[in-house]
Amino acid sequence: MTDTSYDVVIIGSGVGGGSIALQLAGSNARVLILERGPALPREAQNWDPEAVFCDHRYRTDETWWADQRPFKPGMFYFVGGNTKFYGTAMFRFREKDFESLVHEEGVSPAWPIRYGDLESWYNQAEFLFGVRGQAGLDPTDPPRSSPYAHEPIPHEPVIGEIARRLRAQGLTPFPMPSAVDFGVNGKCVRCANCDAFPCKIDAKGDADTRLIQPALRHKNIKLRSQALVERLLTDATGKKVVAVDVVINGRRERITANTFVLSAGAVNSAALLLRSANPQHPRGLANSSDVVGRHYMTHNTSALMAVHPFKFNTTRFPKTLAVHDYYFGDDERNTPLGSLQLLGKIREPMLRGPLAAVPRFLRSALASRSVDWYAQSEDLPHPESRVTIREDGAINLHWHRSNLKAHHRWVAKCKQILRATGYPLVLAKSFGTDVVSHQCGTVRFGRDPATSALDPLCKAWDHDNLYVVDAGFFPSSAAVNPALTVAAQALRVGQHLRDKVFI
Ligand SMILES: Cc1cc2nc3c(=O)[nH]c(=O)nc-3n(C[C@H](O)[C@H](O)[C@H](O)COP(=O)(O)OP(=O)(O)OC[C@H]3O[C@@H](n4cnc5c(N)ncnc54)[C@H](O)[C@@H]3O)c2cc1C
Ligand code: SF4
Repeated sequence: MTDTSYDVVIIGSGVGGGSIALQLAGSNARVLILERGPALPREAQNWDPEAVFCDHRYRTDETWWADQRPFKPGMFYFVGGNTKFYGTAMFRFREKDFESLVHEEGVSPAWPIRYGDLESWYNQAEFLFGVRGQAGLDPTDPPRSSPYAHEPIPHEPVIGEIARRLRAQGLTPFPMPSAVDFGVNGKCVRCANCDAFPCKIDAKGDADTRLIQPALRHKNIKLRSQALVERLLTDATGKKVVAVDVVINGRRERITANTFVLSAGAVNSAALLLRSANPQHPRGLANSSDVVGRHYMTHNTSALMAVHPFKFNTTRFPKTLAVHDYYFGDDERNTPLGSLQLLGKIREPMLRGPLAAVPRFLRSALASRSVDWYAQSEDLPHPESRVTIREDGAINLHWHRSNLKAHHRWVAKCKQILRATGYPLVLAKSFGTDVVSHQCGTVRFGRDPATSALDPLCKAWDHDNLYVVDAGFFPSSAAVNPALTVAAQALRVGQHLRDKVFI
């Protein structure tokens, strides 16, 4: 007989849910993690670009809507969540990212906490994920109380040469902090498939290998996979969440707990809260402020292919370099531009969608010669940028675009920089609504219950025992990748739960 009552139920086994589970591991709390996806199978297709990019073997088959247009979101429902497929770039937010910051077309709001509140948790998160990096070379690096535990991943020759040419332009390229177990005694074999692929040999520091598996070694932590939570239920007062309805392997069950941690990812957490509307909470749970689902952000991003007609790019693990010299602005304008990072190696099957009209031999020629980059700028929160639930129950995602002038200026500047490294042709393609990788902001935390859904420790203002801990809590997106910041805050909240609630 399976238990149906726990001290803590965690919904979702990604970075947020996994960090909470690990903090509670070994405590006296009986914890159940409910994860809608299965464990990711280890199989040849893990590293097959055709299977991953053309057949979409691992992407969810769910349909979301962008207003009138149906689309398949780039979401991966497995134990470990989206980090099974992430690109391993593990950045801390900059100190100024936590403060109110004026942009070309708006203002990025302040967080209810400061960088200093997360600094020690960033250390712990980097350590848990096995992040490799070198402090002090990134000109926008925030202060840190301890160095990276591991040396950065060395550049392969093509990237080393580009780093020299960037320095010759007066820039300060730096080693990209990356959660890959590479180096002496490391497992990584530089398989040439990392960004957007799962790791067949568990060398990628993801939420499954680094958080969930270690947590499950403790007998107080249980995981039920293929368990889709449909709604949360409150008591008669509406103040307490008392149960979740969950479909496990096709069977509906009701599971009760004293504390609930919702970590289903920014879009799905908002959707679950909205779907859980009841007479006491007609707009959805945690939503007396009406912010749940609003302020959706996902970064303004473009992929750039820098091509030299006579140079082949033989790099297997290119993600070792980034440029932040213009993160907060340039000589032209004192407002932020963004981050330039190397991207996983683009290969011909990945170009079949975006360059469908180009003959295959030309796509192959481009892919074998390109050095691939990612230009990323801040997306600003807007109340109409929003997750809602359609009448048929599906998710609608209305992404209100923001701050695009800065992104276009950043892409133009990146093209200049890359041409000056000796690559005469630079192609750019921006990502649209269907790419939801860096989703955040839909259940924002804050200091004021009138304008935020969560308090600074991610507890719902409206409910005594509900925490929402995933990228949904971000009040702003910054222009660096989100996973390490989700982990740092989740570790902080997990420790709070352990100290204050379960000892
Ligand atoms: C291709 C790709 C590359 C990326 N690269 C980077 C990178 O290099 N660096 C970086 O910092 N970030 C990167 N990201 C983003 C990063 O993966 C996310 O920021 C991070 O995983 C968010 O963690 P989370 O805990 O908020 O949510 P998720 O990882 O989405 O975890 C949520 C979990 O909840 C489960 N779930 C959802 N709904 C339910 C439900 N109703 N019932 C039960 N379970 C549910 C999901 O299956 C999932 O396992 C990338 C993402 C993608 C897709
Ligand atoms: S590059 Fe290394 S960590 Fe990444 S998928 Fe390949 S073996 Fe795994």
